[in-house]
Amino acid sequence: MGKAWTQEELEKVSRELEGKDPSLAIKWAVDNFHPDVALACSFGAEDVALVDMLVKVKPDARIFYLDTGLLFKETYDVIGRITKKYGIQPERCAAALSPEDMEKKHGPKFWEASPDECCKIRKVIPLETALSGLRAWVTGIRRDQAPTRANAPVVGWDEKFKLVKINPLVTWTWEDVWNYIRKNDVPYNVLHDRNYPSVGCEPCTKQVNPGEDPRAGRWAGKGKIECGLHK
Ligand code: SF4
Repeated sequence: MGKAWTQEELEKVSRELEGKDPSLAIKWAVDNFHPDVALACSFGAEDVALVDMLVKVKPDARIFYLDTGLLFKETYDVIGRITKKYGIQPERCAAALSPEDMEKKHGPKFWEASPDECCKIRKVIPLETALSGLRAWVTGIRRDQAPTRANAPVVGWDEKFKLVKINPLVTWTWEDVWNYIRKNDVPYNVLHDRNYPSVGCEPCTKQVNPGEDPRAGRWAGKGKIECGLHK
């Protein structure tokens, strides 16, 4: 049982880390919560950059990913390359219901009929399981990704999942992320080179056109912009 952080304390830490090197936020997270803190890694561009930073701060830091069973083969490929390069063993968190069982229970292409329910089964509930027992989690969200993320602090209390949430990259731009990836030779999902700036499950992710919002390919035409992992 570690220290219970007050809202005021978290806000103070967040202010101190605002605009600083993201590695400082990672170091704060590790110093205060390891081994009860983990990076939630989708293996998207932001998250592979965070893996690189995290491993440099704490080689045995905890990393987990949500395997929905519906990821692109290119995503499984980058998981393999990252695992090999950094010598890490990310914890795999999967839904209790396999894609095949989901189809038997809810019908074919459940993600088209009920994307929120599908995300709940395949992402939100597994995330709740992954976070249970942790005191903090680290994510790769950035403020300019979506209106829902515009006010995300570097450090704050996650009311939805009831633990501290650290967002080291909130002030970074897409360009900052790629500068870091190139400078540090970080393996990344090759779909990013094929007009998929944001990569989720294969059935719900499309290529974007030049000039389109980077997240326009996620749940295109469904009026949905978040899977429920972030408020
Ligand atoms: Fe289901 Fe699509 Fe959500 Fe993946 S992104 S869990 S396929 S609705």
